[in-house]
Amino acid sequence: MNRRTSRDGHTDWCARGHRCGLGEHRSDEIVVDVAGHARAVLVRVRTAAGRDHAEVRVRVALAPGEVAARRQLVGLLGDLRQTVTRAAVAARPAPRRAG
Ligand SMILES: [Zn+2]
Repeated sequence: MNRRTSRDGHTDWCARGHRCGLGEHRSDEIVVDVAGHARAVLVRVRTAAGRDHAEVRVRVALAPGEVAARRQLVGLLGDLRQTVTRAAVAARPAPRRAG
């Protein structure tokens, strides 16, 4: 993986300024907006230890009824669990080949 940093010590995707600090580099926000219904904001982060992360904040409009809203939350949590698990598996180092 390409882990380049620029001459000023930031990554090429770092937003610099107030977003970057406390040992972390942070990108500009990447927003996915479904007007009136949902919004997701992704920020790429490199920690002081050099590990890259995706930080995601999700906001979803819930149904007005409590039962429907709870049903939505259950579905949302299940989907998030799948997404996070899939991403975590993809981040693991590839197994070494015997040879
Ligand atoms: Zn930075």
